Amino acid sequence: MHPHLKYLIELQGVDFRLIEIRERVSKFPKRLAEVEARVTAARHRITTAKEALTSSLKERKTYEMDVEQWKERAKKYRNQSGEVKTNEAYKALQHEIQNAENEIAKAEDRLLDRMVAGEEYERQVKAAEAAVKEIEATASKERQAIQAEYNAAHKELAAADAARAAAVAAVPEDLVDHYERIAKRHGGIALAEIRGEGCGQCGVHIRPHVIQLLQRDGNEEFYHCETCTRILYYANHSAAPASASAGASSADPSVAPARET
Ligand SMILES: [Zn+2]
Repeated sequence: MHPHLKYLIELQGVDFRLIEIRERVSKFPKRLAEVEARVTAARHRITTAKEALTSSLKERKTYEMDVEQWKERAKKYRNQSGEVKTNEAYKALQHEIQNAENEIAKAEDRLLDRMVAGEEYERQVKAAEAAVKEIEATASKERQAIQAEYNAAHKELAAADAARAAAVAAVPEDLVDHYERIAKRHGGIALAEIRGEGCGQCGVHIRPHVIQLLQRDGNEEFYHCETCTRILYYANHSAAPASASAGASSADPSVAPARET
């Protein structure tokens, strides 16, 4: 492995962390906005319910006046009926009185409807007000939690920045430039591990000869993926996973009897 490559791998590790933290940080405004939107929507439901209640009360007033007016007219016709001279006029008045009675009944029905609706709107206003209290309390907790996460993420960011500065200090400047040029073009990822027989990032097949060279201890050359141009490296996992898989396979039977007891 090229002597500087292990520092580049460290640098890439820090950069992966930075990418993850920055992505997390970038989501905070949206998460806060979602909390605020929920509160706004809940407050809006109060306004809507109150408006419905107000217009219902207005209609109720109108229908109350309708009832009164038709009652007045019926009373007037009844008073007149004592003074009419002809049978025709009497019949006409009776007709008017009947008509007024019908209108009173209709207006009273409408009035009753509005009174029932008004009670329903009052319930809706109260329910919406109670819901807002609950949603605001939840929102306040959520805001605090988001703020705490935000502060923690910023601490992580500062730590990762410091780690990056340390990693960069271990690598010659022109190599850092080279790394950063590739990273800039490829979403912050300048290095690609050999996976199987291919580039671990773009997946393209890498010539076996190059893989052999990368595996060689004395190698001091950099090799790039011919497709994505990332700096290739070969990490020898064969020692570690072998012991890990041995550990895992021996762990399974040891876990099973433990569960039985
Ligand atoms: Zn590649």
